[in-house]
Amino acid sequence: MPATPPFTDEHEQLRDSIRRFIAAELRPHAEQWEADRWFPDDVFTKLAGVGFLGLKYPEAYGGQGGGYLHDAVFAEELARCGSGGLAAGIGAHVGIATPPVAAFGTEDQKQRYLVPAIAGEKIAALAITEPGAGSDVAAVSTRAQEVDGGWVVNGEKTYITNGVRAGFYVTAVRTRPEGGHGGMSFLIVDQGEGIATSKLEKLGWHASDTATVAFDDVFVPAENLLGELHGGFKLVMANFQWERLLMALGAVGAMDVALERTLQYTQERQAFGRALTGHQAVRHRLAELATTAHVSRCVTYDALRRFCAGENAIKEVTMAKLATQRASFDVMDACLQLHGGAGYMREYGIERMARDARLGPIGGGTDEVMKEILSKLMGL
Ligand SMILES: Cc1cc2nc3c(=O)[nH]c(=O)nc-3n(C[C@H](O)[C@H](O)[C@H](O)COP(=O)(O)OP(=O)(O)OC[C@H]3O[C@@H](n4cnc5c(N)ncnc54)[C@H](O)[C@@H]3O)c2cc1C
Repeated sequence: MPATPPFTDEHEQLRDSIRRFIAAELRPHAEQWEADRWFPDDVFTKLAGVGFLGLKYPEAYGGQGGGYLHDAVFAEELARCGSGGLAAGIGAHVGIATPPVAAFGTEDQKQRYLVPAIAGEKIAALAITEPGAGSDVAAVSTRAQEVDGGWVVNGEKTYITNGVRAGFYVTAVRTRPEGGHGGMSFLIVDQGEGIATSKLEKLGWHASDTATVAFDDVFVPAENLLGELHGGFKLVMANFQWERLLMALGAVGAMDVALERTLQYTQERQAFGRALTGHQAVRHRLAELATTAHVSRCVTYDALRRFCAGENAIKEVTMAKLATQRASFDVMDACLQLHGGAGYMREYGIERMARDARLGPIGGGTDEVMKEILSKLMGL
């Protein structure tokens, strides 16, 4: 099959090797890691060994010297690993926690954090959300008090992916007492003394350690200020487009997997003397779901193409996030229904896909936040 733009044949070759790696090294363990509510940290070193943690990063830092499109292939293929939690843990490291270090870090910070992160030796988490600040990012209240040689951090983050296992947290803190966009900064906080983490139980993404992370008088050296002092909001905004594209790509990949399985199941399963697909209502439902998946891919690839071409693609990226996340959950739910009772059973994996997909309209900016952004762009 020829590559679909913006991807080229080179990206499709990468896709093949990522798909083979995931089938051999990740997919066979997905059920166990979901049951364990944890995946081993050495997943990161294994991924680093084949270069997948640094596809878009320069070779000088141990990366592969590729671009966003290489990472996009990885994000789409990760949906085949069989566990939303596993994909989320890897995705948080590669897609949201390390990019701010690469974009805003000093050379010293890149050497100390980006290089070991690409090598899978240090696991990264992005810590923005707090009990009192989610959609309203500017309400962050974790306080960084300036002291001799650095900062002392106090406060609590919540719902942080890789929150327990992280070696460092790219953390949004308040560096000015007054609230709002202006007084926020980012610190790279090493795991260690004064940090208490607690893993949260959740509907899906079971293999990932979504956690609260409490900072109690944690000293952070001055050289760990990431980006400009009081300029943290810019840093938050900088990676949002990419994070949302990654989520759209993940949803598109996951819809394909669910449909592949459901097509197979409905062709094999017999009811009333014929395969389920022998019934017109089932066939038509599958045709609708395939159309939804294709439309989602088209919207996502269009946004990706614009983003990679350097266009201001806020509108298209926001639409891609909005269009794909609820669609993915709806597709999973329909696939579950087409499996009948089997769909409700763990064994078939489709119930997990549905649970895992439910995060999409919430994480990385909720559907409502996407609609607010679009309303503003429409001048409303
Ligand atoms: C599994 C999981 C993993 C996560 N990983 C991370 C992570 O790694 N790092 C991190 O920093 N965060 C992470 N998050 C947090 C996530 O980004 C937030 O949950 C999300 O942004 C929503 O914030 P909230 O939960 O505080 O909801 P709220 O902001 O309290 O929203 C509640 C509801 O109100 C709606 N709402 C809010 N404001 C408006 C408005 N102006 N108009 C209309 N409706 C509105 C929302 O859309 C939502 O439906 C994670 C969350 C989950 C569940």
